Amino acid sequence: MAARLDRLRGAAQPRNHDARTIAALTSNPGCARRGVLDAAGIDKDAIAAELGFAAPFGQSQFAITRGNVFEAQVKADGCAELLSLLRDRLGLSIPEVAYDDLGVVGGNESRKVRHARTRQLFARALGEGPGTLFDHPLLRLDIAGQPAYLEPDVIAFQFEGRFHIIEIKSFAMIDGQADPAQVASAARQSAVYVLALRRLLTELGHDEDTVSHEVVLVCPENFSNRPTATFLDVRPQLAVLRRQLARLTGIDRIVAELPADLTFEPGAGLAGAVRSVEARYSPDCVSGCEMALFCRDEARACGSTGALGRSIRDDLGGVDSIATALALADGSLEPAEELAETAAGLRLAARLRREALGAAS
Ligand code: SF4
Repeated sequence: MAARLDRLRGAAQPRNHDARTIAALTSNPGCARRGVLDAAGIDKDAIAAELGFAAPFGQSQFAITRGNVFEAQVKADGCAELLSLLRDRLGLSIPEVAYDDLGVVGGNESRKVRHARTRQLFARALGEGPGTLFDHPLLRLDIAGQPAYLEPDVIAFQFEGRFHIIEIKSFAMIDGQADPAQVASAARQSAVYVLALRRLLTELGHDEDTVSHEVVLVCPENFSNRPTATFLDVRPQLAVLRRQLARLTGIDRIVAELPADLTFEPGAGLAGAVRSVEARYSPDCVSGCEMALFCRDEARACGSTGALGRSIRDDLGGVDSIATALALADGSLEPAEELAETAAGLRLAARLRREALGAAS
C-alpha cells in the first residue's frame, strides 16, 4: 500500500501534516478524492495551482501575527496570565506549578528528540513526578499508516491526575460568546491534540481517559487583549476524527480500484487523473479543502446536485445530477424502485411550486 501511495504521489515529497491539516480531513469524510490525496500525502495546494485552480487558503499574515502576539502575552513569565486564568476564571486550585517547554531539547530541534523528551516528561508526570504545564509537546498520530508529527501550538496541562489541552486562539470572545465557526474550527484542531495525547498515554500504559475531552480555550475578551478562558467539550469532534482516520487507514479499498498506472505527477494527464477519483463536492468544501475551486468547476460543469449544498444532496439521496432531479420532478423520467420516494417528494415540490407561482400571477 505504501508503495502504491508513493506511486500516486510521484516524485514529490509527502506533505507534512499538522493539527490544521488533520482537522481538515474530517470536513468531508465521504470524499474519495480527498481521502486518496491525503492518504498519499499529496500537496493539494500544489495540485490545485498546477490545474489552474489555486485557492486562497489558510490564515492571513495579519491573523498569524495577531495570534502569535496574543499567545506570547498569555505565556509570558512562565505562563503567569494563563495560571491566574486557570485559578480565578475556571476555579482550579493549582498549588504549585512545574513548567516544561518542549519546543527545543538541549538546543536540539529534531522532531524525534523532541517526541522522545515529550514521552519521557509525560511518563515522569504520570509516575507522580513533577509536571503541570507542558508547552509545545511534540505528539504523533498515524495518518493512513504513516506516523505524522504534530507541530503543536498548545499546552498540555495536568490537574488532579488528568491532562487537558489548552488551545490559545486570537479570535475574540464577546460577552462569553465567540464566532461559532471559529470555535468549531478550534474544537476540531484541539480534538487532534486530544487524540494524539491519548495515543501517547496509552502507549505509556495509561487509560486514554487520563486525557480529558474538555479542552481549555483561551481567547481575548471583549475587544481587549485581556485573555479569558472557557472549557470546550470536543467529544463530537473526536468521534468524527476517529472515524475519518480509520477510513484513511481503509483507503486501500478505494486505491485498489484505481488504474495501476495512475499518478498525480504534474503534467498533461493531471486533470484526468484527479477526475478519475470520485469527488463529493459541496459548497462547504470552499472553506475546508484546497481543491475546492477545481471540484466546484467540475460539479457545475456536470450539473451535480452536490453543487447545490450538502443538505440538498442528502435530501436527494441517490440522485446525483440536477438534470435527473428535474426530469423526476416533471415526470418525464420514471424512477427506479429505490428512488420512488425521492421522486414523489420532487413531484410534490414541483406541484407546490407551480401552484405558488400560479397564485402569485
Ligand atoms: S474540494 Fe473536492 S477533493 Fe476536496 S473535499 Fe471537496 S470534493 Fe473532495
